[in-house]
Amino acid sequence: SPVPEAPPDYAPAVPDMDAGPARSHLFYQSRHRRPLLDRAKGVHMWDVAGKRYLDGSSGAMVSNIGHSDPVVLEAMRAQMEKSTFGYRLHFENAPAEHLARLVAELSPEGMDRVFFVSGGSEAVESCLKLARQYALAIGEATRFKVISRYPSYHGATLGALALTGYTTMTAPFAPMMHEMPKIPAPTCYLDRDGLTMEERGRRYADMLEAEILRQGPETVLAFIMEPVGGASTGALVAPDSYYPRIREICDYYGVLLIHDEVMTGAGRTGRFLASEHWDLKPDLMALSKGFAAGYAPLGAMVASDKMVEAVMEHGGFIHGYTYAGNPLACAAGLAVLRETVRRDLPGNAAHIGDLLKARLEGLKERFAFIGDVRGKGLLLAVELVADRDTMDPLPPENMAAARLVDLAYDRGLIIYWRRTRGGYVGDHVMVCPPLILTEPEIEEIMGPLEESLAVLE
Ligand code: PLP
Repeated sequence: SPVPEAPPDYAPAVPDMDAGPARSHLFYQSRHRRPLLDRAKGVHMWDVAGKRYLDGSSGAMVSNIGHSDPVVLEAMRAQMEKSTFGYRLHFENAPAEHLARLVAELSPEGMDRVFFVSGGSEAVESCLKLARQYALAIGEATRFKVISRYPSYHGATLGALALTGYTTMTAPFAPMMHEMPKIPAPTCYLDRDGLTMEERGRRYADMLEAEILRQGPETVLAFIMEPVGGASTGALVAPDSYYPRIREICDYYGVLLIHDEVMTGAGRTGRFLASEHWDLKPDLMALSKGFAAGYAPLGAMVASDKMVEAVMEHGGFIHGYTYAGNPLACAAGLAVLRETVRRDLPGNAAHIGDLLKARLEGLKERFAFIGDVRGKGLLLAVELVADRDTMDPLPPENMAAARLVDLAYDRGLIIYWRRTRGGYVGDHVMVCPPLILTEPEIEEIMGPLEESLAVLE
């Protein structure tokens, strides 16, 4: 049938942003508007006035392979010409199947089943629901509690939010959520107890066992954690002793271990999955963010054959999203992951991450208010404090990290800030550029960052 011609003003190039409040401004916590984005390429972004920015946080730790990658764009264009939507009850689709096979190949052995969703919150929700249905399938109906950590972030939807340990984000919704037990995240760097880091790691892991016993092991379904903390803790890495002990405790009590690799997955920490650093195998895993690197909304739950088959034999997974397995999103994800592997972007994240971390560490000499620099690969954070020895936080009204972000933004560097320690006190900035960052481009981060820190001083 004939296609009517689109009107000439169908996509006006630059809307008039001074004509009243911005209608699409999404973050209502702040009326502070940012410039209109014009275009982005590699690690750089440009606003409509022509100012260039280095994307030092990959958006919200998303754009792992950089912007406008020609291979990804071509794969998406080719898929768009074939089909952009085919509902999962009517068709399987090739990009989803290829992507699922690649994800299974890159995941720990036995984690062969991939359920696609549109983002991180949906991936976490899917893990919760599959875990619960698996417990029902194997006759353990009393298990429903999911223990998580404090601080943590697992998503904005009410199920994922109930696991989130970040009071400023959860408090208004508390009455609407089923309260889930939380244990402290392994913030060993704050402890002044005379123990070694490895001893502290075991002590924090043992808190999981104590909580399982307090709750009654027969009621505990799962434990969820970010293997390397995201924005809520500022790239928190536990001592090596923590991880195997957590696995051991989960196995002993029949508690499923869910890894939220939404931020850490797809190469960000220097390995494809953060769990590879400790050779860990979770029972369930959530992926998103760098998985399709911002080219399309995409996430995934990865599970074992054993769990999926058990649920299938008991009536099937009672869950699903309209956009699950969307062919265009999966084509984007497939191209992103193939490029991530072909160009060894996790390897580059490890190498450039070490160099960048050393440079950030170096800033401590000049700026006494830098309390800690931590992270792995290109998931790095700088915590700002009142006193480095005691790690006392800066007064919240100081808004040091928020001001640092604005100062850097003015200088063409995009970074990302959050309150540490559950949302009320403490400040850190995330320095998490795309994994394609080159060594000379480190200077484009360090120059504006150092200048901004000097103003803050
Ligand atoms: N899990 C983690 C560890 C995250 O960092 C995030 C987002 O920041 C989410 C889940 C939620 O992902 P989304 O915002 O895509 O729903």
